[in-house]
Amino acid sequence: MGDDIHELRERYRAFMDEHVYPNEPVLDREDGDAEALVQELRGRAKAEGLWAPHVGPEAGGTGRGFLAYAHLNEVIGRALWGQLAFGCQAPDAGNAEILHMYGSDDQKERWLRPLVAGELRSFFSMTEPEVSGADPTGLRTTAIRDGDEWVIDGHKWFSSGAEGAAFGIVMAVTEPDEQPHRRMSQIVVPTDAPGVEIAPVPVLGHRGRGWTTHCEVRYTGVRVPFENLLGERGEGFRIAQKRLGPGRIHHVMRWLGQMQRAFELLCTRALEREAFGGPLAEKETIQNWIADSAAEIQACRLLTLDAAHKIDRGDEARVEISLIKFYAARVLNEVIDRAVQVHGALGLTQRTPLASMALAARGGRIYDGPDEVHRMVVSRRILRAFAEGDGWRFD
Ligand SMILES: Cc1cc2nc3c(=O)[nH]c(=O)nc-3n(C[C@H](O)[C@H](O)[C@H](O)COP(=O)(O)OP(=O)(O)OC[C@H]3O[C@@H](n4cnc5c(N)ncnc54)[C@H](O)[C@@H]3O)c2cc1C
Repeated sequence: MGDDIHELRERYRAFMDEHVYPNEPVLDREDGDAEALVQELRGRAKAEGLWAPHVGPEAGGTGRGFLAYAHLNEVIGRALWGQLAFGCQAPDAGNAEILHMYGSDDQKERWLRPLVAGELRSFFSMTEPEVSGADPTGLRTTAIRDGDEWVIDGHKWFSSGAEGAAFGIVMAVTEPDEQPHRRMSQIVVPTDAPGVEIAPVPVLGHRGRGWTTHCEVRYTGVRVPFENLLGERGEGFRIAQKRLGPGRIHHVMRWLGQMQRAFELLCTRALEREAFGGPLAEKETIQNWIADSAAEIQACRLLTLDAAHKIDRGDEARVEISLIKFYAARVLNEVIDRAVQVHGALGLTQRTPLASMALAARGGRIYDGPDEVHRMVVSRRILRAFAEGDGWRFD
């Protein structure tokens, strides 16, 4: 990490210490006071030049690439509210990236600029209840061209943040006769378009208000202008890959912060709490947990930094992203679980952040592709490289 990123990271750390951690109990309530506080924190982050570190100045942010963003997220991600305070929360961060990459000038002016400025929110609407989300080639939502408009019909769920959002980016079949990966397109749909119905679905570990909702969305005869198409017709999967790759690594970056916070709580409690004639820190089982957690967290950090570095170089880093997505999800859950265990019953209460962290972490093994699919992607690609005679290199 260069001195400039180190110095910037210390500024984020100071902001978190002063403004985010002390306010977590209020933010967790997700009521009117919490909303007012979020707005205040966002105003401060803007004033201090810490706003939107996920995209570069050309898209309205302060970002300096993926590697730098990974380092910053080790700090930002420690609190569940960190990314929201700095305007880089999912799914808006990923949506901003694809609007920046594929949006027309009009789309950028209408959607990207206010999105990055934090004036409105968005959602990404791909998964459907009736078909496997792990294998999205079977998605059924359709968008049919009628003159200058698309007419969209379909049923989605787990569209995160849809409640209160201004628009969604919807994956829909526009080319039904093409091969599976060329059938879909992505279309920007304003939520005030007639025929859009949004209803939150409560999810384990997510309180579910506005930004933290995961919604069922029905599209019934929804008409939007033809120019709301993002990129070209049939490019939906290619764009999704561009979006979900970075989106996955954004999650992992945030998890690095969560793991490290849980680890610190684990170690602190192990030193403080005494049982059977001495501190828990002297018990071999606890020492093994600490050693294993330290090794696994560092492995996640290095895998993430490696993937981020490759993305900055222009590489899609498909294997690296899948590798870190399933491995970090496992480490995240295990480290938090060890920290809960060391706290005993206290770990199950709201008197430490661990209970909320544990509940929220479980979804990490499913959203943006379940573990099993990422492991399949990794092994298939590596085996293909061997079958083609190239073998696999880790550098
Ligand atoms: C908190 C949260 C937020 C989300 N946000 C969004 C969002 O904003 N937008 C959006 O479009 N979607 C979102 N999703 C949906 C998410 O991406 C899907 O849930 C995920 O892709 C899995 O799809 P599915 O739930 O349909 O599971 P299914 O496809 O039904 O799979 C079920 C299980 O089958 C197993 N499985 C599947 N394939 C294989 C295989 N090849 N080998 C072995 N086992 C396999 C896995 O264990 C998997 O968990 C979100 C989900 C969650 C939990």
